[in-house]
Amino acid sequence: MNMTKELLRYFRHKQKDHASETLFDTQCPFCSVQCAMQLVEERVVGRNCYKVIPKDNPTSNGRLCIKGLHAHQHALHTERLQFPLLKRNGRFVRVSWEEALSFIQINFKNIQKEFGNDAIGVYGGGSLTNEEAYLLGKFARVALKTKYIDYNGRYCMSAAAAAMNATFGLDRGLTNKLSEIPHARCIILAGTNVAECQPTIMPYFHQAKKNGTFFIVIDPRETATCGLADLHIKIKPGTDVAFVNGMLKVIFAEGYVDEQFVKERTEGYDELKKHIEQIQLDEMAEMTGIAPEVIQFAARQYATAPTGMIFTARGVEQQTNGYMTVRNFLNLALVTGKIGKIGCGCGAITGQGNGQGGREHGQKADQLPGYRSIENPEHRKYIASVWRVPEEELPRKGVSAYEMIQKIDEGEIKGLFVMGSNPVVSSPNARFVKRALKKLQCLVVVDLFLSETAELADLVLPTSSYLEDEGTMTNLEGRVTWRPASRKRPGEVKHDWEILCEIARVLGKGDYFRFSSAEEIFHELRVASRGGLADYYGITYERLRNERVYWPCPSPDHPGTARLFEQSFAYPDGKARLAVVDNEYQKEQTTEQYPIYVTTGRVLSHYLSGTQTRRSPALASRQIEAFMEIHPNTAKKYKIENNALVKLETKRGYAIVRSKYSYKIREDTVFVPFHWSGFQNINQITDDELDPYCKMPGFKRCAARIIPVVDLERN
Ligand code: SF4
Repeated sequence: MNMTKELLRYFRHKQKDHASETLFDTQCPFCSVQCAMQLVEERVVGRNCYKVIPKDNPTSNGRLCIKGLHAHQHALHTERLQFPLLKRNGRFVRVSWEEALSFIQINFKNIQKEFGNDAIGVYGGGSLTNEEAYLLGKFARVALKTKYIDYNGRYCMSAAAAAMNATFGLDRGLTNKLSEIPHARCIILAGTNVAECQPTIMPYFHQAKKNGTFFIVIDPRETATCGLADLHIKIKPGTDVAFVNGMLKVIFAEGYVDEQFVKERTEGYDELKKHIEQIQLDEMAEMTGIAPEVIQFAARQYATAPTGMIFTARGVEQQTNGYMTVRNFLNLALVTGKIGKIGCGCGAITGQGNGQGGREHGQKADQLPGYRSIENPEHRKYIASVWRVPEEELPRKGVSAYEMIQKIDEGEIKGLFVMGSNPVVSSPNARFVKRALKKLQCLVVVDLFLSETAELADLVLPTSSYLEDEGTMTNLEGRVTWRPASRKRPGEVKHDWEILCEIARVLGKGDYFRFSSAEEIFHELRVASRGGLADYYGITYERLRNERVYWPCPSPDHPGTARLFEQSFAYPDGKARLAVVDNEYQKEQTTEQYPIYVTTGRVLSHYLSGTQTRRSPALASRQIEAFMEIHPNTAKKYKIENNALVKLETKRGYAIVRSKYSYKIREDTVFVPFHWSGFQNINQITDDELDPYCKMPGFKRCAARIIPVVDLERN
């Protein structure tokens, strides 16, 4: 160490003797692991310095990834919104909360008076706390009385959630706790890049590897997660259904079906068997680009292992057949009896911080708290009694997130309230989305920053960050965690729940929203969820201050349910439902005009639409721009230099990104991450065709052409 550094260190140490040090207890705001940590703020040499200390917790055991270590940088960023901003003559001006609330009152009331209650839509997010997600659902149904509410989780977990609900009668991200992973002797990781998206849970997989687990990783790219793979299935994007049908063919043909389990615990076996008998392995190989012997090998490895787990994620779920794809993976687990036992289970690795809790308590178009259905008369009656409103006043189900945008474009929805989401960057066919939002008579956005969506708003309301907002989150295991509020809010920032209560008050519904803390809201949520599938009744703040509790937890003395489906599934007859899954080709195919597949995903240092991580210098500098991973052979074919700007174009629009040669990607596919905006936003070209069952857009596969920017300049 040189002398200057040593002197600096000494000087800092001396200064710190007199420094004030403040400790903030919190959780990482990003992914679904919800790692616990402390932020230390100290005055050193006249300025504030920050240090992050990982905190022990039963999920990530005190580990943090690079995103967690630098999360505070966005929360403390100078661009944080601190006051309500109203657009006047095309420019934002600071206004008081009274003016902001009055603006909403006048505009929302006028729109609803002229066009009906459903003319206002509500668009939520999977990073909201449980309390705020719950309250947003209640706000839409009770304060606005609109049927149009949905959230960005539609783009994230909807395929897996719908598939688990249909198969098991209940959807929880993981059926088993993470600590069971090392007990599985074969693990299938399908379309999930855990190493970059949820790095702090990798040690569970590493331990499994040490224990001799056989890993099958299915991904068109050789991601960091492929380091685990004993068998990497470099599949053609969007053909996972056919691959699993191939595996099922082998399992049925070679007698690996667990007959007793299937007979006692499932429905639909005969239909599935008949369907699989018609499948030709060679055809599956042709469709997927994977040799028949490899499909056979994968099937034998999984079927003959004494224990096994299957994890899916957005790679297989964000497809126009994502629902059916997940159902087929669940078929695999069921026919081999690998569920409900230690080291045997399934899971969809949740993406967003509260992707799990955010989908349980009423933000979804068809849902009431506790995973109740808005169309079920008993469920409606119960929630109406908790909310103290007549049952007939509760709206019916609305439509999915992207369909809401379509309704805006068609003029049916005239006003939109967005909380904790950035649909201009995160939706497919993003140019269309931007154009549609511009048609709104009134757009109100609640955010930390002037996001790309907030820029289009008439009114932007500043909200609190993870350091300032108390609440509960439910992690990928279905474990409820409590995050204290530890830092003072800047400026005139309010919590999301306070904003909802105040708007409800000016809309004349304040009596239904008399909450003075997140804990009070959680108490109502507990009661509302009581007896539902996602039953939180036994979980209290008092418990959560000392432990993370798995739902369902029906009473305060219940320990919580770590492993699901040990004795029975959640259908009234206790049986899981097998599904017949056809090898349907996805609609968007490559053509002469659009000859290459584009697939999208995350990188380690960024999160979702990048609103937060692009403002965190330490994270942004690790990956400052979008890129297109392309195989050198493909690059040669299209005359693409390495590190050159290219235009990627589909029939929906184009994006401009920088090329990056990689032998890790298939030759018929390129990969682009989705965390950037403007011309780098890859969602300008992604497929807005929706899965017919869960309404998930086909983000993970679209047909495009690549044009070097230099050629465009020449022309
Ligand atoms: Fe943990 Fe996820 Fe945050 Fe990384 S991004 S620290 S894995 S919660």
